Amino acid sequence: MRQVRLLFVLCVFTGTQIFAQRKTENIVIFTLDGMRWEEVFGGIDSAILNNPKFTREKDDLTKKFWSDDAKERRKKLFPFIWTTVAAHGQIYGNRMIGNNVNNANPYWFSYPGYNEIFTGYPDTAVNSNDKIKNKNTNVLEFLNQQRPLNGKVAAFSTWDCFPYILNKWRSGIYVNSDVDSIKLNAPSLKLIDDIQFLTTKPIGVRPDILTYMAGREYLKAYKPRVLYVAFDETDDYAHAGLYDQYLGSAHAEDGMIADLWKTVQSMPEYKDKTTFIIACDHGRGNKIKEQWTDHGQKVEDAGQIWIAVLGPDTTPIGEVKAQTTLYQEQIAATIGALMGYEFKAEHPVAKPITTIYSK
Ligand SMILES: [Zn+2]
Repeated sequence: MRQVRLLFVLCVFTGTQIFAQRKTENIVIFTLDGMRWEEVFGGIDSAILNNPKFTREKDDLTKKFWSDDAKERRKKLFPFIWTTVAAHGQIYGNRMIGNNVNNANPYWFSYPGYNEIFTGYPDTAVNSNDKIKNKNTNVLEFLNQQRPLNGKVAAFSTWDCFPYILNKWRSGIYVNSDVDSIKLNAPSLKLIDDIQFLTTKPIGVRPDILTYMAGREYLKAYKPRVLYVAFDETDDYAHAGLYDQYLGSAHAEDGMIADLWKTVQSMPEYKDKTTFIIACDHGRGNKIKEQWTDHGQKVEDAGQIWIAVLGPDTTPIGEVKAQTTLYQEQIAATIGALMGYEFKAEHPVAKPITTIYSK
């Protein structure tokens, strides 16, 4: 934590914002692409479940995920979020009780959303999913520039646009996406590399489980201080109108996050000094049920999102009931603040969500 003390001293002299010393020394960020807040807070949606256009195995889905009680329903779908995070962390975005989280960018699709999460700047010039090298500095890159964290920042993604979103050529952080070869020495990573080239690809890119396993094994072998794991399946299955697969991937990803929490709590380098942030890039349609598959500017409500946090500095309030509206652009500075730094860039940076780390 030397950098925190140094920052503290510097702040005293420069008058910039002082962050209290925190327990968080490592941070892991997960994103579930296009995962609707409606299912996060309400569990499986009966209108979609009962529509044979979207649901193939209704009985099976009902058995797995249905309960008449919404709180039980959401726990069946996201057991880690609604047990461990609900007991020890914070979950923002339940609009049914007046707690809102929104995209600040007006586009409500992936690249603008991920740009907003990591740069803290909803740049309106970022308005395409094309493979364009992002000109905006992101917080992962900023952290990698801090001496104690240099070379200790890594990102694993299913979607092959992330090297561009995080501009790996400029940022210098380790970004491994889709079928980028994993040229690392750990035997488990060699195995994952073989599997990802031989596997079938139902959504056209490597399955999320391989992205996750690569991230987990990298963490074990290389002990990064900042790790990002970007899942993609929920968005692709929703676009295809496959509600069974959309929920199946969401449930599996909750399990992977639980698995990484168990992993970090078993390692002295991470135990009780690691914060998890779980978020998404955009929402999807809601009111007109047939629009749940889609998102983007023309889809009402697709800019409605959610954030979950778990870590040693997080006040354990569970589901946040405050009548407030937070924005995705605040996540970048929050990541910086949790690690003891004030994220600054050449562009404006939105203020952090202080309730995430202030006791
Ligand atoms: Zn999409």
